[in-house]
Amino acid sequence: MSVLIVGSTALDSIKTATKENPKLLGGSASHAAVAASFFAPVNMVGAVGHDFPKKYIQLYRKHGINLDGLQSLDGTTFHWSGEYAADMNHRRTLSTELGVFEGFTPHLPDSYRDSEFVLLANIAPSIQMHVLEQVKNPKFVVADTMDLWLNIALPDLLRLLKRVDAFVLNDSEARQLTDERNMVVALKKIHRLGPKYVIIKKGEHGSILSGPDGLFLAPAVPIQKVVDPTGAGDSFVGGLLGYLATQNGQIEKNLRKAVVVGSVVASFCCEGFGLSRTTKTTRVMIDDRCKLVERLTKF
Ligand code: AMP
Repeated sequence: MSVLIVGSTALDSIKTATKENPKLLGGSASHAAVAASFFAPVNMVGAVGHDFPKKYIQLYRKHGINLDGLQSLDGTTFHWSGEYAADMNHRRTLSTELGVFEGFTPHLPDSYRDSEFVLLANIAPSIQMHVLEQVKNPKFVVADTMDLWLNIALPDLLRLLKRVDAFVLNDSEARQLTDERNMVVALKKIHRLGPKYVIIKKGEHGSILSGPDGLFLAPAVPIQKVVDPTGAGDSFVGGLLGYLATQNGQIEKNLRKAVVVGSVVASFCCEGFGLSRTTKTTRVMIDDRCKLVERLTKF
């Protein structure tokens, strides 16, 4: 079963305490698509400008990502730059230049419209909604977001939340959205906005899945060196949905394992700059780390 993914297709300039890397391949759709591609065929929707390097297109292709929905437009590629504090837990956005995403209204290729698994990765909620409206009969829709959209497009986001099955956000975004510090209470408030499932990411402290069966707590995989966490959240949700799309049976039954798989793919993402480590990862490496998580959490 293939996965439809819309989100940013970007160039990222990333600064850490020890290194500065300009114009790496980034964007929520890029990270999520590569993560999902370990499990399922991916149909990607996005836009790039004239400055988007050909080698990045080749990298998408190497992962078997279908690019029929990637538009090449007149203008510059979405460019995000960010800086991490020495602890690697706090980051500051230095600039966000939307470029070709300004006023972008994606037109889905016919072959994408029957998609059952849909990931509305982080991008303007109006773009996420526009894509969702073109999918005929989705079985499971997941949306991600970030603080920028909570700040400048909250009404659009609230409209979208009524239409999605699962919503993924980090703890600070959950606090901002609900004005609530306690995550259990925040989860209840977010369910009331629409989604049956809510997943709160807590960085190195793992994640919480909330749904009709109650709560499930997944750890983050303990890794020795975090090189660059950019895209970890997108890799998490891409891995999660890619895995889910390939499993038989009810979503509810497979979702807990899917959250663990997402955490595992995110852990690889953190071990290199941009997509450098994720693209060298294999399915066997992912399966091994899933077994490690199983051992670490069994009692
Ligand atoms: P994450 O670290 O999972 O939050 O995702 C970081 C990725 O999100 C980077 O590759 C950025 O290019 C992308 N990004 C940053 N800001 C935005 C935004 N406002 N909309 C969509 N994508 C963004």
